Amino acid sequence: MNLFEKEALIAQKAVELENTTPEDIIRFAVETFPNITFACSFGAEDVVLVDMLQKVSPKTDIFYLDTDFHFNETYETRDRLVERYPGIPFVEVKPEITPEEQAAQFGDELWKSDANKCCDIRKVQPLTKILSKYEAWITGIRRDQAPTRANSKKIEYDVKFGLVKFNPIAHWTNEDVWNYIREHDIVYNPLHDNYYPSIGCEYCTRQVMPGEDPRAGRWSGQEKTECGLHK
Ligand code: SF4
Repeated sequence: MNLFEKEALIAQKAVELENTTPEDIIRFAVETFPNITFACSFGAEDVVLVDMLQKVSPKTDIFYLDTDFHFNETYETRDRLVERYPGIPFVEVKPEITPEEQAAQFGDELWKSDANKCCDIRKVQPLTKILSKYEAWITGIRRDQAPTRANSKKIEYDVKFGLVKFNPIAHWTNEDVWNYIREHDIVYNPLHDNYYPSIGCEYCTRQVMPGEDPRAGRWSGQEKTECGLHK
C-alpha cells in the first residue's frame, strides 16, 4: 500500500472507527497493516492494550523502550505480564549508549541538566529506529490525558515518524481503564496504587497528590511535559 492509498484509507476510516470498540480497532489495524507493532510502557492504558492484543492478535509485536532508568516495579510488571501471557512477543529496545557512556559524554544526571537531550538519546532515537521497521503502530494515548493529546484520532498518520498510528482507547476515561483492569483482573504496575498515576523513568517521575493533575509527577518542576514520542 503506497502513502496516497494509506492517507485515503485513514481519512475514510478515522470517522468510521470513532464509534467502534477498541478491540474492533485493533482487529482492523492488524488485518490492514500486518506489519504493525504496539508501544508498551507498562502503564495502566498499556496493560489494557496488552490484554486486548493477546486476545485479538497474540503474535503482534509489542515493543518497550528500556531507557535503563525504569522503576524496579516497572520491570517486575513486564515479568509478570510474561508469566500471565506465555510467549508474549515483547521486543526490548535499548538506547545506543549505556548510562555510563551517557554520563561520560554529557555529564552526570543529564535528565536534570538537559532532559530533552536525555529523552532524545534514551527514547526518541530508539523509537525512531524501531518504528522504521513497521508500517503502523498502536499506542495507549487517551484524549483526556493532556491538552496535547485532546485531538488524537483513533487512526491518524504519524507525520513525525512516517507511519500510521492507532489510538484504540483515545476516547476512554481513566475510569474506563481501571474498570477494564478490574473486570479482567489485569496485571498492572503496583506504583499506580501508591500515587503514581503516570509512570516514566524513576529520575523524572514523582508521586502525585490528590487534586493534582495526573501528569504533574512527570518532569516535575520543568516545562517539559512529553518525552517527544507523541506530537
Ligand atoms: Fe532521561 Fe528522564 Fe527522559 Fe528518562 S524521562 S529518558 S531519565 S529525561
